[in-house]
Amino acid sequence: MNFLQALSDWNKSRREQYRTELESIGKCPDCRGQGYNIIISSVYIPTYESILDCHSCNGTGSYSES
Ligand SMILES: [Zn+2]
Repeated sequence: MNFLQALSDWNKSRREQYRTELESIGKCPDCRGQGYNIIISSVYIPTYESILDCHSCNGTGSYSES
């Protein structure tokens, strides 16, 4: 049994479960329904560098098939 493959499969199934959960409540899985992603510039001094519209839902926060 390939450990890395098993780990990869586990991660994939978790991610798909997460997507399915958000899909069921109609929210975009990439931005968790917020419609934007926050880019943090530094891990030492957390400052909100920029707020970007989510590409997956075009800033709507809604789940879409595409
Ligand atoms: Zn989104």
